[in-house]
Amino acid sequence: IFDDFSLKTLIRPVPDFPKPGVVFRDITPLFQSPRALRLVADSFIQRYVEADFSHIGAMDARGFLIGSIIAYELNKPLVLFRKQGKLPADVLAEPYQTEYGEALLEVHSDSLCEGDKVLVFDDLIATGGTLLAAARLVRRMGASVFEAAAIIDLPELGGSERLADAGIPTFALTAFA
Ligand code: 5GP
Repeated sequence: IFDDFSLKTLIRPVPDFPKPGVVFRDITPLFQSPRALRLVADSFIQRYVEADFSHIGAMDARGFLIGSIIAYELNKPLVLFRKQGKLPADVLAEPYQTEYGEALLEVHSDSLCEGDKVLVFDDLIATGGTLLAAARLVRRMGASVFEAAAIIDLPELGGSERLADAGIPTFALTAFA
């Protein structure tokens, strides 16, 4: 419902952010176009409307944006995976690598139960570190990951392959080499 070229024109490449040599894929133009936002959200909703999963797990912070729209439209509970220190109640934590070093991803420890099936969502898959940490948190609660979804995949950074190695299928609307 949304051709790859139109989607790509609304993702702005920002050279040397957050550090020299990195081209940051900026999705803010997508959110400034109501039509594009609707098309992106509808693409995920169409894919998952009949899918057999129980929860949406959305990654801090850009994963929250579309993740919450999917949860609202598909009437699924939304679980927030957050950077360290943001969640107020008891948490489980998993380390993951960022461009600045090691960080912790946290989730409320009572947010999932054994048997739950979680669609984990982020705006972009790079090394896959964030979504793999989320998958470890999901599994620690006895739940499983249904699929990892994102707007953008950067396949050269190996994230979708690492997720596949961990038994997690991935889906992205577009990819940049
Ligand atoms: P990973 O954990 O897969 O290495 O990196 C993905 C995470 O970093 C996502 O949470 C994503 O928001 C953020 N990220 C890394 N690079 C980019 C980028 O170029 N554009 C955007 N929008 N997010 C990025």
